[in-house]
Amino acid sequence: MPSRPKLGQNFLSDASAAERIVAALGDVREKTVVEIGPGRGILTQFLAGRAHGVLAVEVDRELAAQLRSRFAPEQVSVIEQDVLGFDFAAASIAAGGRLPVVGNLPYYLTSPILLKLAASCAALESAVLMVQREVADRLAATPGSRDYGLLSVTVQMHGAVEKLFTLPPEAFSPPPEVHSTVFRWRFAPRFAELGVEGEGFLRFVRQAFAQKRKTLANNLRAAGYASEAIASALAQTGIGAQARTETVPVEALAALWRSLGSNSQAPMTGIRR
Ligand code: SAM
Repeated sequence: MPSRPKLGQNFLSDASAAERIVAALGDVREKTVVEIGPGRGILTQFLAGRAHGVLAVEVDRELAAQLRSRFAPEQVSVIEQDVLGFDFAAASIAAGGRLPVVGNLPYYLTSPILLKLAASCAALESAVLMVQREVADRLAATPGSRDYGLLSVTVQMHGAVEKLFTLPPEAFSPPPEVHSTVFRWRFAPRFAELGVEGEGFLRFVRQAFAQKRKTLANNLRAAGYASEAIASALAQTGIGAQARTETVPVEALAALWRSLGSNSQAPMTGIRR
């Protein structure tokens, strides 16, 4: 069956890489693993022998049918569905524990899938995922580096990210135009530890990173915070008045948000400057 580029179908053809990806999940003998986009089943075949159960979520009808005829339903349950609509919370309750997730992601859908996993993180244990190399660099980036930004903070607020290994285009059929990197994401949300409320803080982070060339203070002013409030919160939290958001660690952003008032939403009233 020909691949469907629109569905991000670049199939992994390197079996030893597939085995390494599944091994990176650790011991899953007692666990139900969710596989995102199993495709032709190169990861699924290793999972089927190792995991207690596999929930293989594939949107392509023909691929789902092929997988169903290849694997026994008690080993691999093929769910023909868009992963963005998959209910991880319900699956975790049914499985009786937090779920490991694995997948060579369809690259056109990387950010929505990462945000979906972040939003579902209470149901998840860890994820081993393949993404475009440049995206993995952004996910794992530290403050002050070129790649650190909104995606880094959003993902890292839900758990630590660790790059594992990189594969060249030739490891896939058809080969994509980019290198691909496998990373591990251990879900452990940091909101409570940093004293911030999830939704409000992530909205604040989006405002703080809104324009890359602007300083943090200017981004917050553009979001509606008053100049005096920004200046005093920056001073209180030890962040330089001219600092760019890309240089500010997440702990300092959290302190800034708390100092500005945990009401999180920028004031949109008469005090706007
Ligand atoms: N895991 C296989 C492998 O390593 O060869 C396939 C990986 S391929 C990069 C991405 C897979 O995700 C394809 O099988 C594609 O059909 C599937 N896919 C694309 N969009 C999807 C979606 N919204 N929900 C679930 N699967 C999707």
